[in-house]
Amino acid sequence: MDMRRLAKPNIRALKAYRAEEIPCRIKLDANESPYGFSALRSVPVNRYPDPEAKTLRGLVAREFRVRPGNILHGNGSDELIYNLIATFGGPAAYPVPTFSMYGILSQALNEAKIEIPLDERFDLDTERFMEVIKKQKPKLIFLSSPNNPTGNRFSSDRIREIIRASKGVVVVDEAYQPFSGRNEFLPLIGKHRNLVILRTLSKIGLAGLRVGFMVADPAVINEVNKVRLPFNLNSLSQHAAAEALKNREQMHSHIRSVVSERKRLLREMKKTEGIEPYPSQANFILFKIRGAAKSVSGNRKAADRIYEGLLRKGILVRNMNGIFDGCLRVTVGRPAENTAFLKALRQLL
Ligand code: PMP
Repeated sequence: MDMRRLAKPNIRALKAYRAEEIPCRIKLDANESPYGFSALRSVPVNRYPDPEAKTLRGLVAREFRVRPGNILHGNGSDELIYNLIATFGGPAAYPVPTFSMYGILSQALNEAKIEIPLDERFDLDTERFMEVIKKQKPKLIFLSSPNNPTGNRFSSDRIREIIRASKGVVVVDEAYQPFSGRNEFLPLIGKHRNLVILRTLSKIGLAGLRVGFMVADPAVINEVNKVRLPFNLNSLSQHAAAEALKNREQMHSHIRSVVSERKRLLREMKKTEGIEPYPSQANFILFKIRGAAKSVSGNRKAADRIYEGLLRKGILVRNMNGIFDGCLRVTVGRPAENTAFLKALRQLL
């Protein structure tokens, strides 16, 4: 598959903006200020950031066991989703419910969307996907695995079947992969040229930095790089992300704590009358409130009541009414926060 040909003709014809980094003793080329800020001494913020984020991409490449040429950096993975749609165009297909930005950004960029409901086990409906691939030839397919907001991983056979069948780009968004204990798709980079993997530092302690990565065939990276803004990742974020990646042990210990708390939270929620929690491989749990009326509006009202009750006790969760009627989504917090949540929830039920 010639990945270049999948890009929109206007993108194919583009040349990427080049901000060359030429080593020098006196730098007078970029209309920067010669004066930095003493409070930010460790990072020369008077200079533009490294447009290619070389240090950071090098560290990530080592962590992911790919080449730096397989990696593109984003201001969060949100930005990379935007850039992917800007590069390849629509239709963009994705299961529903899923992460809302696939739909929002497709619409913002005026590209067609194809929404395919998940099956009753929250897994991919491959039959429908195959039909859509054959008839509507989506340029992009977005698969969040583990999926937000359901929390489950899609079965890898189904994802692989979609990657093989698609004549467009298939994006496996692994924002929650660190909590899932599986790393099946990174090793497939190099085997499937149309596979793109998204990763982010947002869920593992660095959401405020806005750092995400795309891993893909260099031909795909090359096309998407043309629509990336030259200085999309600021120097403080590049610096802090690199420092955090060098401190892998702390990062992994936080991930282990979240996973172990997720298991406890799920166990406790299963024992709680009046709710139905769904299994999760992510850092959150989706759960249904069983409304007294056993009807859609009864479930909605019950979810609103618990949501507002929790908030009155100072605990904020996500109300999924409208996306997943009768459901709330709780993010795994610190042990004491999770205990407080469980106590408040039981009082309200
Ligand atoms: N993908 C998924 C599935 C997400 O849930 C989120 C965050 N809610 C993102 C991507 C965006 O992450 P980032 O902070 O890297 O933009």
